[in-house]
Amino acid sequence: MTDRVPELSADQKTELSEIFGEYVNLDKRERHYYNHDIGALPPLVKKVIGNTDPAAVVKVRSEEDAVKLLEFANRYKIPVVPRAGASSGYGGVIPTKGGVVADVTLLNGVLSIDPETETAVVQSGIIWEKLERKLNEKGLSLRAIPSSAPSSTVGGWLMQSGAGYGSYEFGWGHESMENVRIVLPNGKMKEFSGPELSKLIGTMGTTGIITEVTLKVQRQEERNAVSASFPNAAALREALETIREKKVPLWSISFLNPEWADMKNKAPRKLHYGEVVDKDRPVLPKAYVCTFMYPASRDVSGLTEAIENAGGTALPEEISKHETEEWFKSMKVKRLGPSFIPAEILVPLDKMDRVFEEIKKRIKLQVLTEGMVIGDGNVVLLCFIPHSERSVLFNTAFALSLSILKIAEENGGRVYSSGLFFASKKKDVFGDKLAEIEALRKEFDPSGIMNPETLEGKGLLNTAVSMGSAFEPLGRMAGNMSGIGKTTFKDEKEIPAEVAELAYSCSQCGYCVSECDQYYGRGWESQSPRGKWFFIKEYLAGREKLDQRQTNTFLACTTCQMCDARCELDMPIEHAWMTMRGKLVDEEKKMTFPPFEIMAASLLKERNIWANYRKDRDKWIPDDIRAKMKDEAEYAYFAGCTASFVEKDVAVGAVRMLNDAGVEFTGLFDREACCGIPMLVAGKWDVFEKIMRMNVYNMKKRGVKTVITSCPACWLMWHTVYPQWAEKLGIEYGLETKHYSEVLMEHLDVLKPKFKKPLNKVVAWHDSCHLGRAGGKVYEPPRELLKAIPGIQFRELEHNREQAHCCGSVVSLIAEPPVAYKLGGMRIQEAVDVKADIIAALCPCCTVQFRVASEKNNMKIESQDLGALVARSLGYDIPDTTNYALQSWVPFEKMIDLMQPENMADLMAELLPEMMAAMPAPLQSMMKMAKYVPGMDALMKPMMPVMMPRLMPSVMPKVMPDMLKAVERRVPMPDYMKEQLPDLMPKAMENLMPNMLPQIIPLLTPRMIEYIKKH
Ligand SMILES: Cc1cc2nc3c(=O)[nH]c(=O)nc-3n(C[C@H](O)[C@H](O)[C@H](O)COP(=O)(O)OP(=O)(O)OC[C@H]3O[C@@H](n4cnc5c(N)ncnc54)[C@H](O)[C@@H]3O)c2cc1C
Ligand code: SF4
Ligand code: SF4
Repeated sequence: MTDRVPELSADQKTELSEIFGEYVNLDKRERHYYNHDIGALPPLVKKVIGNTDPAAVVKVRSEEDAVKLLEFANRYKIPVVPRAGASSGYGGVIPTKGGVVADVTLLNGVLSIDPETETAVVQSGIIWEKLERKLNEKGLSLRAIPSSAPSSTVGGWLMQSGAGYGSYEFGWGHESMENVRIVLPNGKMKEFSGPELSKLIGTMGTTGIITEVTLKVQRQEERNAVSASFPNAAALREALETIREKKVPLWSISFLNPEWADMKNKAPRKLHYGEVVDKDRPVLPKAYVCTFMYPASRDVSGLTEAIENAGGTALPEEISKHETEEWFKSMKVKRLGPSFIPAEILVPLDKMDRVFEEIKKRIKLQVLTEGMVIGDGNVVLLCFIPHSERSVLFNTAFALSLSILKIAEENGGRVYSSGLFFASKKKDVFGDKLAEIEALRKEFDPSGIMNPETLEGKGLLNTAVSMGSAFEPLGRMAGNMSGIGKTTFKDEKEIPAEVAELAYSCSQCGYCVSECDQYYGRGWESQSPRGKWFFIKEYLAGREKLDQRQTNTFLACTTCQMCDARCELDMPIEHAWMTMRGKLVDEEKKMTFPPFEIMAASLLKERNIWANYRKDRDKWIPDDIRAKMKDEAEYAYFAGCTASFVEKDVAVGAVRMLNDAGVEFTGLFDREACCGIPMLVAGKWDVFEKIMRMNVYNMKKRGVKTVITSCPACWLMWHTVYPQWAEKLGIEYGLETKHYSEVLMEHLDVLKPKFKKPLNKVVAWHDSCHLGRAGGKVYEPPRELLKAIPGIQFRELEHNREQAHCCGSVVSLIAEPPVAYKLGGMRIQEAVDVKADIIAALCPCCTVQFRVASEKNNMKIESQDLGALVARSLGYDIPDTTNYALQSWVPFEKMIDLMQPENMADLMAELLPEMMAAMPAPLQSMMKMAKYVPGMDALMKPMMPVMMPRLMPSVMPKVMPDMLKAVERRVPMPDYMKEQLPDLMPKAMENLMPNMLPQIIPLLTPRMIEYIKKH
């Protein structure tokens, strides 16, 4: 077996970077995120396992990549640990010996689907949920699917081996896999099929990197579900045995024990901006609740009889509906933990009730159990003991998982999987196949580079498990005395109590990872919601630091709320990051993204983010419409900054439609201020509050009852965020908010006959997050409006409505423009895939983003606003603003670039003569003398971080005129912006410098020393 490789040598790093370019990550802090799986281990076990940070992470995107990686690893005897969804809990993705983590999540394509033969060939890293969606498009469906389908992968399930939904009819997951392509540890590709396949199954990444899998699938059919309750495990067992005997043709059988059902009733509600979403959640009986699923066409007449004869009771349809809707939310109750001690066992069905009895008798802590019945007569029991990983008692309570395993073994069962923790049980898991597996590994991996220790275990850990099994009654006694009461959280370091609680609750299942745009725009775990929860726990444990880099990670979230929609624990994730923005920037005064400071200055001065003049804000209003707008009205149209200054077609389109539909409205004219969302996400909540107060005051002065917006972000502020802040601040609010598409739906009969000009184009529709998933779920009105345009060919994008992908604008554009262009390109690609001429949206920011991103990615597609398209069809001449939007973006892009610490250091280096001259006279003389002092460099380096922050407040105003000129040289600006810069820049610099200087000083110091030496 290879030695532990905690770090690569400099040459190895260079070589790996040359092979994989941007797909290798060598950063120490990023690597830390790849050191664990879903299991929360007790501190004692963690100590035994030791440091598990890998030396590098490589994203394997092709078979060729896998070959190159393994050739490299063999050359230097470096361990390689394959990692897919990382949703397993047996240590298979833990790099106990360091080395390289081979992340296969980009190896995720569907290669072919054949409805005739009912087979699919896929790349191994494809997530089950995505594969099912692709199969459904062709009228097919998976045979068996793990309950972790939103994050786990085809290759991961084969390598981990397990059962899932559908296993009653189709057996273990791997029984539906026909052929596997794998790059063996020696870097050679081989295909396995038939009986040979068993040499790979459950081998947890120790036999190579799987690249392709051929699966047997089935025809898609509507499924019915029946849920029933049983008074005890014996009754449930009896029903299940009858169903098997009578060969009732079910597809899937899964169940909960009474403790789990009870906890499910108590699980926290799903919230959306503090409002309960799942008000109609049905209540489960505190009993064994079993759900039977079957294709609707099948005759399952024996089912009811089997349930009733065993003493069971069929439950109302709302329960079976709810249970199947919550298919993949098996860990939902973890929020009541917040930690779980797991014990997964496989037991024969005929002994199942005995196992439950024994668990009850011997384990004094609450055991929640979920069961999955397999067609071969076995049942998988996933047992969880709620606990707290922060309690010292977690160590001793963990012994109870060995007690549950012992009960399984006494009843003819076994551990579900072996792996790092149960290596001593691998003979029970693999049986006769073990010898073949070991022979294969010996032949192709003589140096033991492939996931070392995963099947062998770790010496001390194996001994501890063996001792624990041998002295199980002792461990059980201690475990049974290790119960804890309700875990409470308090504010700790900079982490508010409610955020800390969520961090410990997170199951690390990874459902939120692949669809988070902050993650897929950058590709590394630290950027995902799962990664951020991991960070918080590590920070609270003293193993991470919350510095500017991490602050940026919290700030970079686009607020798309995809994570909230996907979280199996229904956690309010995006809200937690919003809380962190306020905590870190508003309270702790950490730096926000620098361009937000210029925006804040512009906002406070001119009430808009585009550094334009307040007096020009309402110039977009067409004269004939202005003439009709009253001072006071029930409705007011609120245009927002981007539609007022950049994409005026959005605002003009909106008022034209409203007017043609007969809606009377007023507006705030040049008193309108930005809705404030940029300041909210920037964490500059003092500015947000000022703006919000101003807008609400002005709106109410005009007697408005309902605010109509075109921009979804404005909608979100007026509809949801302003009322919440108003309540917090004691302001009477009383305003309703609607999007224009909702208002126009009420007047479509008036509007529709007025459509004149056809639009003979294929138009794909993009749902904006803040009106859709993260807002009011307004999906149909804009579609209806768009489809009403004559001649249009409407297309849905692959990810639409609740699953719609974010356009990647605003925060990503401010934080890292290249990431925003990539995200925009990905979304536009969906429109290209459906052969659209136009990608249409109703958000001015999405439209700017698509226009900029299509230009950057050289994609030939138009981006148009819904209102503008409709208004043109109504016969209005509304000029296309694409070119103006692209031009307006240029100074912003340059300014964002300039505000990077490296570029600010460059700018300051250019201003060194002026900066020196602005220093107090004695200091200037000292600097001049310093060049004659031997060892001046060494002297200056520690002095600068102390000196510069003290000097800056007096130096900056003096050098500001030169700084402005230097900025103008770098950023081509329109006149209005140039004129305002002298007001905006000093304010922005004043706010930025305290936090930015520590990043600038190390870059500036050597140049300053050089300068002093030369002058
Ligand atoms: C909420 C939840 C529900 C779950 N439900 C089920 C269930 O119903 N049934 C079940 O069996 N399990 C279940 N699990 C456990 C887990 O999801 C499965 O084991 C899953 O198959 C792991 O897949 P993954 O893609 O996450 O693999 P990972 O966890 O990333 O990896 C698992 C193992 O496979 C190896 N591996 C992964 N990909 C490759 C590859 N391409 N080539 C070589 N080796 C590879 C890794 O090295 C590791 O040893 C559940 C987990 C959670 C969190
Ligand atoms: S809100 Fe969107 S970008 Fe932010 S963490 Fe959630 S999924 Fe990622
Ligand atoms: S945040 Fe939710 S979805 Fe994401 S890993 Fe945690 S529990 Fe899973």
